[in-house]
Amino acid sequence: MAIVERLEASPGQRGRLALANPATLAPLGEVELATSHDVSAAVERARKAQPEWGALSVSERGHYLERALRTLVQRADDFVSTLVSETGKPATEAIATEILTSCDALQFYAKRAKHALADRKLPLHLMKTKRLYLVYRPLGVVGIITPWNFPFLLALNPSAQALMAGNTVVLKPSEATPLSGQLVEELFQSAGLPEGVFNLVQGDGEVGAALTKAAVDKIAFTGSVETGRCVAEQCARRLLPCSLELGGKDPMIVCADADLERAARGAVYGAFANAGQVCTSTERVYVVDEVAEPFLEKVLRETTALRQGAEGEFEVGSLIRAEQLAVIEDHVQDAVARGARVMAGGRRNPDCEGIFYEPTVLVDVNHEMKVMREETFGPLLPVMVVRDEDEALRLANDSRYGLNASVWTRSRHRGLELARSIDSGCAVVNDCMITYGVTESPFGGVKESGLGRVNGEAGLQGFSQLQSILVDRFGGRSEFLWYPYTARKLRFLKRALRTVWGGALGRLLS
Ligand code: NAD
Repeated sequence: MAIVERLEASPGQRGRLALANPATLAPLGEVELATSHDVSAAVERARKAQPEWGALSVSERGHYLERALRTLVQRADDFVSTLVSETGKPATEAIATEILTSCDALQFYAKRAKHALADRKLPLHLMKTKRLYLVYRPLGVVGIITPWNFPFLLALNPSAQALMAGNTVVLKPSEATPLSGQLVEELFQSAGLPEGVFNLVQGDGEVGAALTKAAVDKIAFTGSVETGRCVAEQCARRLLPCSLELGGKDPMIVCADADLERAARGAVYGAFANAGQVCTSTERVYVVDEVAEPFLEKVLRETTALRQGAEGEFEVGSLIRAEQLAVIEDHVQDAVARGARVMAGGRRNPDCEGIFYEPTVLVDVNHEMKVMREETFGPLLPVMVVRDEDEALRLANDSRYGLNASVWTRSRHRGLELARSIDSGCAVVNDCMITYGVTESPFGGVKESGLGRVNGEAGLQGFSQLQSILVDRFGGRSEFLWYPYTARKLRFLKRALRTVWGGALGRLLS
């Protein structure tokens, strides 16, 4: 079953993508694919527009984002409707996780970039005759490559940050969700961005690869570890900076003193929101033996109460891509073959027409199974009972991923302590995903979950070139350290070394 079908180019015509709604299978039209020539042309347009855009003040650039924000609020219903038909997610999820979050991001960057990107004056602890300035300059043209799970937010958010930092942008959204990419373009057009400042190229991996080879100054990539590695290799050849926001296998640790009602509801939301297609999904649970039974009972009660569908009120929508079904089915089959038991779900939903997989709870799982080691990116919740918190922590860290993690305990101190011990870029105590604070907080992974950070002030600075400028304060004919090198100068330097760093003076100065 193809939700997006690639129609090959014919003489004089570009290739196209034929799209269908993954929840209803209704056709959604076609989108033209860019060629590698289109990618170069988009980068050239961006290059031409950059000097003028970069010369605007940060506040002036912020006005464009504020205009985009106003349009987004006015047209929220239209945007939600496109997102729902392209992804099969519930409208509540589309508005909460794509539109509200995008509004927050636009407002935050419009307002805060001025502070984040302001020149800094740094005092020099030794050379008082100099003054040091740190200056954030635009990188130039940023290529942004994005996935399909939050196709609007994940395309808009890095674009807004790159633009605020004075760059021009070429965005390549996922081939699975090109209409959401078009919404981002429409939004920036409605904000009146000057020609060439924001550019959209549609296409699959070939077009993405062409963008990584084009004359851009940074690639901001969000997607899978496998593609991220290709992008990083391509960038490394040209010493091109790149940020990689990749997959996760986020652990959840349920301690003996956890509020089990909240933890169970959090596990169910964390695993099944967006049909589990969230990079920070709860992908594996470790619950201590002492409370495993009541926790599981609550998890099952919450899971079986979930409604799945495409119309009216429901909590869990369809999958976005047909290909994801194969991964989910493989993980369940592998787990069952190795001794896991399915406590809920465990199959495609026979009552729904589109690509739906039932919210699934697995027990008796272990780290031999794919479901505990590889990213599923679907509605699976494997629950493993562990002896104690130490075992939970050891297993949580037994992963090649390190994006997000959650810890559930009534002790804030213990929660923070455990969170700090998990090898992940982000962690949450008594909540399931790092939803709140994701605008302000630098976001990204460790281990194979990625490189670099987006979001927050650090994200804006990541789309900039940090330039250090040292200014001499007093002038004079020459500097002591300049030529000539005399025996007297050498003696003086040796004496200075002993005087300053041989005693307490050096510590005092620094
Ligand atoms: P993907 O890696 O298949 O594709 C991501 C993007 O890369 C798409 O636009 C695709 O067309 C493009 N692409 C494919 N091959 C390319 C190549 N050789 N060069 C350049 N671009 C290429 O990922 P996906 O299936 O779209 O997204 C799901 C993955 O994204 C999951 O692993 C998920 O965890 C991850 N993700 C991470 C975050 C995060 O912030 N860490 C957020 C959302 C999704």
